[in-house]
Amino acid sequence: MRVSHLLLVTLREVPAEAEIASHQLLLRGGYIRRVGLGIYAYLPLMWKVIQRITAIVREELNATGAQETLLPQLHPAELWQRSGRWQSYTAGEGIMFHLEDRQGRKLGLGPTHEEIITNLAKELLQSYRQLPINLYQVQTKFRDEVRPRFGLMRGREFIMKDAYSFHSTEADLQSTYLEMDRAYRRIFERCGLATVPVDADNGTIGGAASQEFMVTAEAGEDLILLSDDGSYAANQEKAMSIAADAIPLEGSALQLISTPGETSIEALCHSHNWHPSQLVKVLLLIAHLGNKVEQPLLVSLRGDQELNNVKLMNSVSYLTEQEVLDCHPIGPEDLDRQGVSTIPFGFVGPDLDDALLSSARSWTKRFLRLIDCTAATMDRMICGANQLNYHRFCVSWNDLGGIPNSLDLRKARAGEACVHNPKACLIQKRGIEVGHIFQLGQKYSGAMESRFTNEAGKTEHFWMGCYGIGISRLAQAAVEQNHDDAGICWPEAIAPYEAIVVIANMRDRIQVDLGELIYGQLLNAGVDALLDDRKERAGVKFKDADLIGIPWRIVVGRGAGDSMVELVRRADRDVQNLPHADALAELLSELRP
Ligand code: ATP
Ligand code: MG
Repeated sequence: MRVSHLLLVTLREVPAEAEIASHQLLLRGGYIRRVGLGIYAYLPLMWKVIQRITAIVREELNATGAQETLLPQLHPAELWQRSGRWQSYTAGEGIMFHLEDRQGRKLGLGPTHEEIITNLAKELLQSYRQLPINLYQVQTKFRDEVRPRFGLMRGREFIMKDAYSFHSTEADLQSTYLEMDRAYRRIFERCGLATVPVDADNGTIGGAASQEFMVTAEAGEDLILLSDDGSYAANQEKAMSIAADAIPLEGSALQLISTPGETSIEALCHSHNWHPSQLVKVLLLIAHLGNKVEQPLLVSLRGDQELNNVKLMNSVSYLTEQEVLDCHPIGPEDLDRQGVSTIPFGFVGPDLDDALLSSARSWTKRFLRLIDCTAATMDRMICGANQLNYHRFCVSWNDLGGIPNSLDLRKARAGEACVHNPKACLIQKRGIEVGHIFQLGQKYSGAMESRFTNEAGKTEHFWMGCYGIGISRLAQAAVEQNHDDAGICWPEAIAPYEAIVVIANMRDRIQVDLGELIYGQLLNAGVDALLDDRKERAGVKFKDADLIGIPWRIVVGRGAGDSMVELVRRADRDVQNLPHADALAELLSELRP
């Protein structure tokens, strides 16, 4: 491809809309263009990157026996109602774009495809003899993200590879899950990405086991915790650890202590010389459940711990046997709306009286009480007295009426000991989730009555797995992991072109002839090459070549009269001055070892 014909518009300035390096470089390098919030055009260079990634994904998945398909993006609401997800995906902070057709029928734009595929399986697969089967597609997904940002990292329209497998037994599902794990590792490695597989929360998709693949990068939105012995890694949403021991409380008699205006752990510790691990803090939250119930929560945590909202939602879901749509802290305005005015914020204890909720308009009139294990194991503690400006000192759980639900609700943190090996310690990194594999089990096949006949002649729900890769996010994550001050340094396997021949001075006939000769030879050798034949200054061309990040560059400049050229490796700017035939031979041996 001749750069003079390529749609290549590079920018010198950093666009104001872009905060992170990869987003800035893709905009500046003319790879993508913003069309609207979370909506991007993939320009020709980007589309080549996407296609190269997709080709690797296809090769590796086809090698496992998975079959490619293409499912619709318009999803009839009825299918999502049958799985029970229509409400949570369309109401409140639900991420499904949805619409009505001219007859008033409701439709959603596919954010994921479990419903469509589970229904197809129900219609097409009758017998265990047809199993296992693994279907995948590469397609645009739509999600009305709460915070679209960072370019392709979190778009509202993005390209995903999603696969769904169907099995007659759980053991067979597990074996395909492991095979997909291995295929994913090969895919990311071939794309030139350093990824870390981590234990992940199953979220609203549900199921038994799941693992995410994280590209480690400072700009990552996920926090991951890894053990320093290398044998454990988890998303913080899911991570477990052993908390530091609490500092025992001196004293034996329960006392009421005046704590005027001391509504935070810091203020209390500061005035009374207490340690945060001697206190219990009580958080008030409201959970919106799938059955429309609004459930007030009273969550007790040790004063030095933080609440993990994902663990909380999972626990509430487990205790109520309902899907939890969201959980958020109760503020004074919520109380006003409910007509509940008597809660002594900042002085609440775990035994706050349910009677306070008696006037609530739409909330359930009883707290669901949850206690984190680190709080539940405290002998004596300090907690709010349920009256303004007072705390209780040296209280036991017996004094508070016992421990209702002791659960793991806290955030694991870097520096804490690991559960699998208390001698190992957690360290933290930031990560970009590029892939996710799940064992769904029978969650969707059960909800949608999708069955097959097993060997014994009985009907049974399919065992299912699902496996996603964010193709467009992966492309940008590769830039986040591979760039320098001057621009992108694409890994060879996914670069839009393998090499670029830059003719420094288009007015010099000798340079032009040699540049054309080398370009022709590269194409003949099957190298996907660019020829920068623009009538621009050499400096502009070099800057652009650095910015767009083609892995290899051959510069045809003043040495052309002696057949000498420069061979430059973009990643480390290693420069070799070589006769042109040697440069070509060297490049080919690098590209096709
Ligand atoms: P996240 O936690 O980042 O919102 P998710 O867990 O909801 O993602 P999945 O449903 O697991 O995403 O989707 C599979 C893959 O699709 C993810 O691993 C990610 O790489 C990609 N992906 C998800 N949401 C987006 C998005 N808004 N923009 C680009 N890629 C995305
Ligand atoms: Mg995910």
